[in-house]
Amino acid sequence: MRLDKLLANKAFGSRKEVHQIIKDRRVTINGEITTKKDIHIDIDIDTVAVDGQTVNTTQLYYVKFHKPKGYVTAVEDSTHPVVMDLLPPEYLKMGVVPVGRLDKDTEGLLLLTNDGVWGHSIINGHKHVPKVYYVEFEGELSEEGIQRIKEGIVLGDGTQCKPALIELLSDQSATITIEEGKYHQVKRMIGAAGGTVSYLKRLTIGHVDLNGIEEVGSVMDLTIDDVEGFK
Ligand code: URA
Repeated sequence: MRLDKLLANKAFGSRKEVHQIIKDRRVTINGEITTKKDIHIDIDIDTVAVDGQTVNTTQLYYVKFHKPKGYVTAVEDSTHPVVMDLLPPEYLKMGVVPVGRLDKDTEGLLLLTNDGVWGHSIINGHKHVPKVYYVEFEGELSEEGIQRIKEGIVLGDGTQCKPALIELLSDQSATITIEEGKYHQVKRMIGAAGGTVSYLKRLTIGHVDLNGIEEVGSVMDLTIDDVEGFK
């Protein structure tokens, strides 16, 4: 990658501002001052510094994946297949890891990245990122149970959930929107309201959905707007 492009990507300013920084002899490559704005940088090998501070040249990757049932959301597992087994090799080389997790028997949208700060900001709850799930269940959800989900249901073990949105699609299916990510949360919410989940699929995380990865097992890079939308 060209030096000026790299520094502009790393938010050192516009191309013009970056050219000035280079001209002012503030940039070194492998310890040597350079004034060549178009010099080629190998981000895997070269060390670039501005005013003596090393620039992190690691390329950041942001990916969305349509997780199938039967795979554990993990990088490795001693007994079960993991989502990483399904990623094309080029994604494995990027060093991406899942952002949060879906249960082994849950399908749907999973984000992956090698940008730990970004990933953490989505799951730590401070941003209140809504996640929409499509759920099918057996049994009956009582009116009172639905009301409790809306107001913040207490799970079987006494865990208090925040208020959630629930829209019944039929007697046996619904969409549920939650901003939290407690262990088996949707299954336990439905359980506490009188039903048993038979199928669960995550449809969206914030503004990101399954568009472009409708086929189970498919993967796609996020757009810049997708990534920035969480910042
Ligand atoms: N809630 C669950 O119960 N399972 C998931 O995989 C995600 C949310």
